[in-house]
Amino acid sequence: MVRSLTHWTKTLSFPARISPNKQREPTLTPTPSNNSVASLTTSNNLNNNNNEINSMMNQSQTSLLSEVNQIYSDPESEKAIMSSVVYCIHHKEGCKWSDELRKLKGHLNTCKHDALPCTSKCGAQIPRVLMEDHLKYTCPQRRARCEFCNKEFSGHGLENHIGVCGYEPIYCENKCGVKIHRRHLSQHKSGECSKRLIPCRYCAKEFVADTLAAHNVKCGRVPVVCPNRCDINLLAREELDTHLKEECTISVLACTFKDAGCRFKGPRFSMENHLEENCRQHLNMMCNVVTKQQHQIASLKNALSRLSLNYSGTLIWKISDFSAKLVEAKNKEGMELVSPPFFTSQYGYKLQASLFPNGNGAGEDTHISVYIKILPGEYDALLRWPFAHSVSFTLFDQSSCPEKACNIVESFIPDPTWKNFQRPSKEPDSLGFGFPKFVSHEMLKKRHFLKDDTMFIRVKVDPSKIVAV
Ligand SMILES: [Zn+2]
Ligand SMILES: [Zn+2]
Ligand SMILES: [Zn+2]
Ligand SMILES: [Zn+2]
Ligand SMILES: [Zn+2]
Ligand SMILES: [Zn+2]
Ligand SMILES: [Zn+2]
Repeated sequence: MVRSLTHWTKTLSFPARISPNKQREPTLTPTPSNNSVASLTTSNNLNNNNNEINSMMNQSQTSLLSEVNQIYSDPESEKAIMSSVVYCIHHKEGCKWSDELRKLKGHLNTCKHDALPCTSKCGAQIPRVLMEDHLKYTCPQRRARCEFCNKEFSGHGLENHIGVCGYEPIYCENKCGVKIHRRHLSQHKSGECSKRLIPCRYCAKEFVADTLAAHNVKCGRVPVVCPNRCDINLLAREELDTHLKEECTISVLACTFKDAGCRFKGPRFSMENHLEENCRQHLNMMCNVVTKQQHQIASLKNALSRLSLNYSGTLIWKISDFSAKLVEAKNKEGMELVSPPFFTSQYGYKLQASLFPNGNGAGEDTHISVYIKILPGEYDALLRWPFAHSVSFTLFDQSSCPEKACNIVESFIPDPTWKNFQRPSKEPDSLGFGFPKFVSHEMLKKRHFLKDDTMFIRVKVDPSKIVAV
């Protein structure tokens, strides 16, 4: 029974067959064909198969080779095969050995790349060349000392010990930069580490240890003494301001009547005394303040009324509750309504209209009378006298339909000889000039001169003839 070479060359390949005529250059390798005749193949195949061979040879080099012997009972073939030149099965790992196949077994006994069971019987197969390292560093059965605590362990024990050895120097996890034996780490972290969190003893907030001193410099709860050395012992720094402003008996204060002019300054405890003893002075100061303020108010009022003054030369005068005013006028002789003053221009004549609801002079009891008078104004010195501009009075018909409205208008041009239109003195003329019989009471009831018991009278100075500066 001849087993095909194909069967086992799947696991065992050969390097080059070295021709006696050629140099020993292992470029070609015999590979059996189906009919058991070796054909040639490249040495790459050898390499590809080496791992497989390796494992196989490790397990059963001897049996394999003897099997080869059995297979090739033909002594000629066997001789030829066994004389084939092959590489060591560990060629790829670096073994340079190459010789006849028959010598491979002998070589493998000494090949430093060949694997042997660990001599410490840990069960691993270790290449001969690595055995020393294995026994020293990786074999679980080895005896080894921890480099930090110097205790002896089995290899396995050491692996468990690494990472927990109390004598291994390690960096503090808080990144404080300290390297310390593991067994001292927790003590370091709780008591010494510059990056541990500790609460401020005053405000109880937590701070990294090495920033606590900086915090204490500004912590609001740090107790301080009052700079005035008053009878308060200690108070929190953040309360000091309020204490000095509102409580400290030694703080020097200004008298509460400072704004009224009192210049007294003294410690808080003396203030009550000062106030009691200076009642009259303080009262006088307050009176002065009030007087001053009254003047200010008056001048403000003045300025305000200036802003709201009418400088247009035209006054629209609204007279409401007319019937009540008429009744009053009938009972009270000479009752006169006066309009707000108005100006012909900003620097012009100051004028005022007046109205007698129950008439005046020729119109008494039957008509309403209207007049205009000239009041003393600020710019009179620069204006032309006598006043020479035409003045018109208009009573508006308040009909809701403006086209149908029919106003009553009266106007006059002052005669230069009328004394009412000379420059007024400080005591102005009491009457002025106008129309005693402006509109009769009868006429007032007609049309819509009165609406909602209100009348509107326009007093207009013809602006075209105004001569102002
Ligand atoms: Zn070898
Ligand atoms: Zn071992
Ligand atoms: Zn240790
Ligand atoms: Zn630390
Ligand atoms: Zn604090
Ligand atoms: Zn104080
Ligand atoms: Zn005072």
